[in-house]
Amino acid sequence: LSAEAEEVLDEIEEKNVDFLRLQFTDILGTIKNVSITADQAEKAFTEGIYFDGSSINGFVRIQESDMRLDPDPSTFAVLPWREDVEGGSSARLICDVINTSTGEPFEGDPRRVLKNAVDRAEEMGFEVNAAPEPEFFLFKEDEDGNATTEFGDKGGYFDLAPKDLASDVRRDIIYGLEKMGFDIEASHHEVAQGQHEINFTYDDALTTADNVATFRSVVRAIAAQHDLHATFMPKPVPKINGSGMHTHMSLFKDGENAFYDEDGQFGLSDTAQSYIAGILDHAPAIAAVTNPTVNSYKRLVPGYEAPVYVAWSDRNRSALIRKPAARTPAAARVEARFPDPSCNPYLAFAALIHAGLDGIERDLDCQDPIRENIYEFDEAKREEYGIGTLPENLGEAIEELENDEVISSALGDHVYENFVEAKTQEHKEYLVSVSEWEIEQYLEKF
Ligand code: GLU
Ligand code: MG
Ligand code: MG
Repeated sequence: LSAEAEEVLDEIEEKNVDFLRLQFTDILGTIKNVSITADQAEKAFTEGIYFDGSSINGFVRIQESDMRLDPDPSTFAVLPWREDVEGGSSARLICDVINTSTGEPFEGDPRRVLKNAVDRAEEMGFEVNAAPEPEFFLFKEDEDGNATTEFGDKGGYFDLAPKDLASDVRRDIIYGLEKMGFDIEASHHEVAQGQHEINFTYDDALTTADNVATFRSVVRAIAAQHDLHATFMPKPVPKINGSGMHTHMSLFKDGENAFYDEDGQFGLSDTAQSYIAGILDHAPAIAAVTNPTVNSYKRLVPGYEAPVYVAWSDRNRSALIRKPAARTPAAARVEARFPDPSCNPYLAFAALIHAGLDGIERDLDCQDPIRENIYEFDEAKREEYGIGTLPENLGEAIEELENDEVISSALGDHVYENFVEAKTQEHKEYLVSVSEWEIEQYLEKF
C-alpha cells in the first residue's frame, strides 16, 4: 500500500467514514458512483473494484464489460453534506478506469484522455495549469422539489445583500467546497438575475478537471438543501446572459511561467502567443467538446459577453481569448472564454491543451489582437480583419470536429467515436422537436 493510501485509511478511521463513493465520469461528464463500505477501502487500493462497464454511457459493449476502478488516494474528501449523518459520514475517491482484459488504463476514460494531453505537454517540457470560472443559476424548486426557471433572488452583478438573497446559499456552498479542500478565491453575483460565479485557485490541469466535476456536485447538493436548483445549463433563460466556464491556462517550464515575457505583447511570450494561435485555429472543432449541448449555442450569440467570433484581445469581452490583467509574471495566462459548464471538463481541457500545443509545435503566430467590440462588426469588416466565427449549432460543431485531425485525435478513437455518435443523436432529436417559440409564433397564425 502506498504511503498516500495508508494516510487515507487513517483518515477514514479518524473521520468516522462508513461509506466510500468511488467516482469517475462518463463521456458526457456525468459523475458515476460505486459505493463501498469503508472496510473495503484497503482492498480497493490494492486490488481495485470491479464493475460492469456496459451500463455506462459510451463505455463498452456488453461482451467486454468487466472494468476496474483504481482509486486515486490524493482525491480523498469527506462529503460535507454527508458528514456526521446518522450511520457515519461518506467520502469520495476519484478513480482511474482500467480495462481488465489488457490491464491498461481504459482509453474511453475521460480522465485518461486528459492525462494523455498532460503527458504530451510534459514531453515538450511543460506543466499545464488551469483555472475555470464556472457560472451557474440558482432557481426555485416547486412544491414537489422539481426545478423551475423562477429566480432564487433579484440581484445583479456584484450586488450584495439584501438584494442578493442567495448570498446565504453561496456562503454555504463555499463552506462546503472549502471542507472538500477547495481554495476559494472569490465569489460574486453575476450579471444576470439568479446567476452566480465562484472562483477557485488554479492547479495542474488534471486536479482542476477533478475539481470542476466535484464543484458541480457540491453546488447542486448544497443548493438543494436550501430548496434551490443549481443549474450549469449554458442558457436557461433567453435574452439575458448565459453561463460560461471561462478557462484560464498557462504553461510552466522548469518552475517558471513560460507564458510570461516582459518584452512580449501584453507581457506574453512567443510560446503563449503560439498557444493562443493554436486554440484560435482549432476553435470551431474544440467547440464541439467545450460547448457540447444544443443549448450551448444559444449562449454563443452577440451581446451577452459570450464569444461568437474567433479573435483574441487583452481586455475585450467579446473576444474568444482574452489576456487578463496580471500583477505578477507567475499570473501571466490566457483566458479561453468560449467553454461552458455543461462540458466534460476532462475532455474540454484535453482539447484546449492539444490545440495550444499544436500551435506551439507549428510555431504559429497570433493575428493582431482586436480591441474593438466585435459584436458590432459587419461581415465585411470581419472579413477584412480575418475573423472567423464559431459554429452556430451543435450539428455544425460536430462537423468541424470530424474535419479536425488534431482535436479528434486528442479525444482518442474510443471517446471520439462514442462522443460523435451521442452528440449527432442529440442534435437530430433536437431538430425534430417543436419548441415553445414555434407554438407561440405559429399555432394561431396559421
Ligand atoms: N456570462 C458570460 C458568459 O456567458 C461571462 C461574463 C463574464 O465576463 O464573467 O460567458
Ligand atoms: Mg463571470
Ligand atoms: Mg472571466
